[in-house]
Amino acid sequence: DLYYSFSPPLTPKVVFITARVHPGETPSSFVCQGIIDFLVSHHPIAKVLRDHLVFKIAPMLNPDGVYLGNYRCSLMGFDLNRHWANPSPWAHPTLHGVKELIIDMYNNPKINLEFYIDIHAHSTMMNGFMYGNIFEDEERFQRQAVFPKLLCQNAEDFSYSSTSFNRDAVKAGTGRRFLGGLLNDTSYCYTLEVSFYSYILGGSTAAVPYTEEAYMKLGRNVARTFLDYYRLNSLVEGPLQYKEREAEQEPEHLFHGKHHIQNLPLFWENSNNSSKLKKNSIKCI
Ligand SMILES: [Zn+2]
Repeated sequence: DLYYSFSPPLTPKVVFITARVHPGETPSSFVCQGIIDFLVSHHPIAKVLRDHLVFKIAPMLNPDGVYLGNYRCSLMGFDLNRHWANPSPWAHPTLHGVKELIIDMYNNPKINLEFYIDIHAHSTMMNGFMYGNIFEDEERFQRQAVFPKLLCQNAEDFSYSSTSFNRDAVKAGTGRRFLGGLLNDTSYCYTLEVSFYSYILGGSTAAVPYTEEAYMKLGRNVARTFLDYYRLNSLVEGPLQYKEREAEQEPEHLFHGKHHIQNLPLFWENSNNSSKLKKNSIKCI
């Protein structure tokens, strides 16, 4: 009943999401829960996403560390997020299993692994934000900025200005860095961070304490942003508008972001594989 039309993908596009590799970072589980809740919901955007994308979610990469109440390490004392390069099946079994799955999917010509997002919580920064990678290819580097820009439009607590792209030596061995180097130039790897404490809204200096619900809301906004992204990339075509009647029925509590955006300054258009950044205007929900 929505004004959507679709270009059925030749190969399934996969979004791979992991969380809780650092067991003390409990907010990441609430964000991941929000993503899952939204994707399995009756929300019309969730249905579109389920019809056109495959979401693979490993919500807890470090279950033994969580069980033990560790802050950062696994049962054997490893920071798993520094062992992506060469995980051992006996010392880092969960990481090894997830990496094998990701590589199998990457090597499968019938699957397009397009996103990898690893969810963490940050002990000093405010808001939600992302880390991405640095690429020599300027176009790829700029394309990588599109998803966080779109997320910023959807989630009032997500900060694009705190989002950064780096290749610090200290971050080598993380999922985002390792997979960013492994996957091809149409795949994007991010760390999604969310503050343990608060977020500051644009135009304000007051910090709003995060709640469990606010973390889950960020997760829901992450999920819905994939529709914005894939509409820009021509997987989903047609105006992003509900009929009036359905707009009234949209569950208000799901989103509290600035989701009535008329004009975004920067878009990525990928039709017929000619990749260009262009200025455009789009009507979001
Ligand atoms: Zn972490």
